Amino acid sequence: MRLILLGPPGAGKGTQSARLEKKFGIPQLSTGDMLRAAVKAGTPVGLKAKAVMESGGLVSDEIVVGIIADRIGEADCAKGFILDGFPRTVAQAKALDAMLKQKGMKLDAVVELVVDEKALVARMENRVKETLAAGGAVRADDNPEAFAKRLTQYREQTAPVSDYYKSVGELRTVDGMAAIDDVTAQLDKVLAK
Ligand code: AMP
Repeated sequence: MRLILLGPPGAGKGTQSARLEKKFGIPQLSTGDMLRAAVKAGTPVGLKAKAVMESGGLVSDEIVVGIIADRIGEADCAKGFILDGFPRTVAQAKALDAMLKQKGMKLDAVVELVVDEKALVARMENRVKETLAAGGAVRADDNPEAFAKRLTQYREQTAPVSDYYKSVGELRTVDGMAAIDDVTAQLDKVLAK
């Protein structure tokens, strides 16, 4: 199963990806997680990405496409993968098409978690509270300014990615405003089609 989960920041892609990872036994490939790991490790990619991520901007297509091209070639992706946070621009979606074609792979599904943007800031604030309560480290971009920029980036750069997959007849949608278990049930249903 090769799957893309689309949706704005705070839509629940990470939560649902983790569940799908268990269900299908395939890895969740989150470009955000991979970039945060690169920043933490101080790799050349991390050094380039750090400031732009902290401000809520988008890292260059070239960097993230390179990361994904390397990652999907690894052995644990042989049975499939869940893309979370990639593609985020139409250029990335087209690069992914070319990459998959070259590797003789095909996507099985592209699913968007549709949410009401008004709920997203509250979700982010909640995530910050829960992280702090659990003694964890809050993401550098989970603050009002960076989050507002992430939403703008989503509207301007990533919403067109949904239109792109819609235009080629591949987009399925689920109601991301439902309770977490209900969203999982909806995903099961659309993925069974
Ligand atoms: P996320 O964890 O998916 O919310 O991503 C956190 C941050 O990483 C984003 O705000 C971007 O700065 C960067 N990032 C993650 N994925 C991508 C991508 N596909 N293209 C560009 N930047 C990305």
